[in-house]
Amino acid sequence: MLTLSTEHIRMRQQAANKEEALQILADILVADGLAIPAYLNGLKAREAQTSTYLGQGIAIPHGTPESRTSILNTGVRLVHFPDGVLWDGENQAYLAVVIAAKSDEHLQILQLLTRALSENIEQALRTAETPEQILSLLNAEPDSLLLHENLMSAGADAADIDDVLYQAAVLLKKQKVVAPGFLSALKPQDAVQLQDGLWCLTAEDAVLQPAVAIVKLKEPIPFRDGSLSALVCVASNDKLDLQRLSRLMDMLFQPEALQNSESRRELALAVGAETVPDWQSAGVVLANAHGLHARPATALANVCKEFDGEVKVSLDGGSYVSAKSLTKLLSLGAERGQTLTFIAEPGSEAEAGLPQIIQAVRSGLGEEVEAVGEAAHAAPEAGGNDAFAVEVAALQDDVRNQGVAASPGLAAGKAYLMKEVDFHYPHTAEDSEAERGKLQQAVADVKAELAQMVAQAKSKDIRQIFTAHAALLDDPDLLQQVDAGIRRQLSAAAAWHSHIEALAKEQEALNNPLLAGRAADLRDVGNKVMALLCGVKAAEEPQEPYILVMEDVVPSVVARLDQQKVAGILTAAGGASSHSAIVARALGIAAVVGAGEAVLSLPEGSTLLINGEDGAFYLNPAQSRIDEAMQQRALMQEQRKLAEAHCMEAAVTTDGHRVEVAANLGKVADAAGAVQRGAEAVGLLRTELVFMSHASAPDEAQQEKDYRVVFDAMGSRPVVVRTLDVGGDKPLPYLPLPKEDNPFLGERGLRMTLRRPQLLRQQLSALLKAADGRPLRIMFPMVGRLEEWHAAKAILDDALAETPCPDLQVGIMVEVPSVALIAGHLAKEVDFFSIGTNDLTQYVLAIDRGHPILSAEADGLHPSILQLISQTVAAAHRHGKWVGVCGELAADSKAVPILLGLGVDELSVSAGSIPLVKAQIRRLNTRECKELAAEALTCATAAEVRSLSSRNG
Ligand code: PEP
Ligand code: MG
Repeated sequence: MLTLSTEHIRMRQQAANKEEALQILADILVADGLAIPAYLNGLKAREAQTSTYLGQGIAIPHGTPESRTSILNTGVRLVHFPDGVLWDGENQAYLAVVIAAKSDEHLQILQLLTRALSENIEQALRTAETPEQILSLLNAEPDSLLLHENLMSAGADAADIDDVLYQAAVLLKKQKVVAPGFLSALKPQDAVQLQDGLWCLTAEDAVLQPAVAIVKLKEPIPFRDGSLSALVCVASNDKLDLQRLSRLMDMLFQPEALQNSESRRELALAVGAETVPDWQSAGVVLANAHGLHARPATALANVCKEFDGEVKVSLDGGSYVSAKSLTKLLSLGAERGQTLTFIAEPGSEAEAGLPQIIQAVRSGLGEEVEAVGEAAHAAPEAGGNDAFAVEVAALQDDVRNQGVAASPGLAAGKAYLMKEVDFHYPHTAEDSEAERGKLQQAVADVKAELAQMVAQAKSKDIRQIFTAHAALLDDPDLLQQVDAGIRRQLSAAAAWHSHIEALAKEQEALNNPLLAGRAADLRDVGNKVMALLCGVKAAEEPQEPYILVMEDVVPSVVARLDQQKVAGILTAAGGASSHSAIVARALGIAAVVGAGEAVLSLPEGSTLLINGEDGAFYLNPAQSRIDEAMQQRALMQEQRKLAEAHCMEAAVTTDGHRVEVAANLGKVADAAGAVQRGAEAVGLLRTELVFMSHASAPDEAQQEKDYRVVFDAMGSRPVVVRTLDVGGDKPLPYLPLPKEDNPFLGERGLRMTLRRPQLLRQQLSALLKAADGRPLRIMFPMVGRLEEWHAAKAILDDALAETPCPDLQVGIMVEVPSVALIAGHLAKEVDFFSIGTNDLTQYVLAIDRGHPILSAEADGLHPSILQLISQTVAAAHRHGKWVGVCGELAADSKAVPILLGLGVDELSVSAGSIPLVKAQIRRLNTRECKELAAEALTCATAAEVRSLSSRNG
């Protein structure tokens, strides 16, 4: 990221003209190692296209895109010319901000500068004496408080205070005045009552610009000891204009301040907020590849200046700024694909000129552009070269295809393809009235369909989902915004789609898994309306049990499936330890994942046979094959019944070797059920999931209460608890972590808690107290180095000094390859190892476990992983320590004999898998397992290991 700092400022330079100035600038960039001398040509060429004079005595010279090859490092230098340099034939530049940027980083600098440009700083710039003065002039920001109609919402629906806070945060986020993290800073307990039903809440985290949002509800909700009918949400920082805020508060303290304001316009007028002018408007999607950067922005300002009268523009429904001001245009930071809405003063030349302005933007403002619109959702083409295309071979009938076994079971049925549809629609439409009619009809039809689905839904959860969808379609704000798009001559489909997408993205951007779920809901219901608007017919859900085929299992989709009808799941993407597999297993539905793109283009009416045991699947299998599979299924069901009947018995091999079979738990309430399915211990309590079940961080007392539920259910059985494993793909909404490029290689697991020792200490104390003399096993996740183990152990020792624990063992997860390789050192110190094969596989094979395409190749039976397991077990046993496996591999019937053969002492699996794993162990013989494992270690591929295991199974 480019930043402005004093050491990058050169004071008191002199140049007789722009050419000399450019030479000085190029020399500075070369001297500082940012560019080679040839960059000067790029600077000159850029000035020849249009001058880079920005305003207020500032120019921003930078090279053409072609000259980027002359840049060595991205950087920026500020060069002060106190005598001025005539830059564009008219204006003197006193400061040149010269940019060497390998891509579009200079847009950030522009946005930064444009804030300063709204002030009158030219004279001060010219006479500045020190770099510090220059910097403070550029960073100058006026005190402010944004109070705008776009930050108001009237008639909102909310079930509770969380809904209200969320809506306020969305309003602020949409105006780009707060960043992610703001929502979590809003603490309902800090709200102050202004008058009956009217509350005010202030937060300061992640505030970019002070602003006030007001959310007025359709119906009051209970809040604290009374009720809440409207919330005034203040986003504050040290630039807050206190006088303006106190004037606002005076208004709000008036009796019945907001009572008669039924629309957002009325709310805005009641509190003296800026309103959106009721001028004629026209919208256009920006098609320029690099957004509205300096050159097209200059062209746009010039086009607008041709017309007398005011023209304003807003970006994606944000505040309006003057379209004649270059700096204001740049401050929008508009990117390709975003919508610019222009409004013009009634009766002015500018009003008549709106079509010309739109046309100028559409034609690229002097740049070559490829239109966005109907083609916006199409995949980018790889430069027309077919060699870049991913090969997708069509499937053949009755031939064995291989996917990844994800959830055991055999299933056959008609394929029901659920895939994202590409909607095609015109972007604009002349007849707004007709478009409005189409939209109303489509919304009414979808509402009727949803009402029917609510009536037919068998479970309360599903009923609630559809009811919430119907409520979304009633949201007056949503309909108003879409209607505004139609008024701007967008087609109903374009207005609907762009608004739903923008809303969904906003929710996702709030970085909260619950809200990301709402984004999925929005898209779900949005697509239903789109399908009607675009005349796309969704595939009919078959009446008989079917095989659901989709890109990947999306939990929100699966949650609303009629499970009686879904015989099996087949997905194009996903791997054995991906979410799709875990969801399918939790539902007990047979599933094969990672089957490849070809399954998404099956002909209508195809039949599928899937085998969740070995990952095989067949398209249009012969009847004899189906019959055989169904016989096998009956046999397997018999086996399962038998296994369940014996689930409480120990898992002892035919030669008398006992293996402990434990349960993986994510919810404390599931412990009792696990015992009933034969769990001899808890082998992995994923405490981050326990944390996630709370809307805010549980304190020590709450944690102790949660953990006690598990100990109480387990009686004298051991409980292996993993300390918080947050980060990577497991965010905690109330623990904001910095955004990282590679979160799986970043601050996750123990690395995260070691940086927050209080958090770890609190969790450990809660565990020691909850154990209350019962057998507690603590393990630390994501240990990669001996030092991390020592640091964690020291915190534990500290907690133990206060709360001793008579039956405690302490170990680590083996999921980072480095610890498997130094297991010999660690084995001297730990009490046990638990191998997390999900992450170990991810890190050894360098495949993201959730990767939509590659995770299918992340097979934990790869010989490289078996080598690491073997080394770990050998090291542990040399020192008399035990080893468990708690990754998904522990329940894989092909892996169980190999893991036993490698000497693993405990297998920890999901509760549903316990009876079958135990039954399988009872059929095994240790000597044969050892021979199998030894041979597996000599294999070259995971496929060889699998086939070896099948032959011996
Ligand atoms: C693992 O990585 O194998 C494991 C059990 O941990 P999680 O799946 O929770 O990351
Ligand atoms: Mg893990």
